[in-house]
Amino acid sequence: MVIRKLMGLLFLMIFFSCSEAKVIPDSNVAALLERSKALQLRGEKVTKSLTEKRDSIEALSTPKISWNSSKEEGFVNIQNLSDDFVLDMRYATSDNFLKEKVYSCAKCYVRKEVAKSLIAANKEFMKLGYKIKLFDCYRPYSVQKKMWKIFPNPGYVADPKGGSIHNKGAAVDITLVKLDGSKVDMGTKFDHFGKEAHHAYAALPKEVIQHRKLLRKTMEKNGFQTIRTEWWHYNFQAGRTFKISDFRWECE
Ligand SMILES: [Zn+2]
Repeated sequence: MVIRKLMGLLFLMIFFSCSEAKVIPDSNVAALLERSKALQLRGEKVTKSLTEKRDSIEALSTPKISWNSSKEEGFVNIQNLSDDFVLDMRYATSDNFLKEKVYSCAKCYVRKEVAKSLIAANKEFMKLGYKIKLFDCYRPYSVQKKMWKIFPNPGYVADPKGGSIHNKGAAVDITLVKLDGSKVDMGTKFDHFGKEAHHAYAALPKEVIQHRKLLRKTMEKNGFQTIRTEWWHYNFQAGRTFKISDFRWECE
């Protein structure tokens, strides 16, 4: 009996709920439409605000790069100023850690001030029977991005977000060679990314340590600064304020 009553009640509940869904008064339809419109508007607002937020986040993550306004302003080709450098521009070949050629041709461009100091340092080396061999100089910003794309590891390549001092024309990758161009042992190859390339690494032959010290001492005396992990990399101290550039040198 109880079950019957319950069944009846259930039937009535289903009937009314169905009829309610089927027969919606006009005023309710209008209210529902209104509500759906409001929801749609709200959705559009949320999307807009999210887009705005994303844009502002992207703006934040974009580096404060102040671009070099004029194409080649302040840059010089070191070979136009001195014949005393050996050029071995590795990124114009595939003989580099990227295993890819990223420069169309081998040229060493730097800022005028950097060139002046490099020439002064080279003169000192030459008195001692050595000279500078250049592996890399100014690196266009677009090449930095290309390198990052090939090798996105901040330990090896400067993230284009902040740019590299090479992009400012104020960093050089160098080694020493004898005056006849023959090799001077620096303990590791250029772009050897391991502790053996660190300035503090001491488990090297005495001769190697002496070469690294001579390079460092002379470069520092002429306004350059080392970085901890690469014996070949030198930043021009006063060059940090230079702007990042993307001018590309001409190839004949
Ligand atoms: Zn470097």
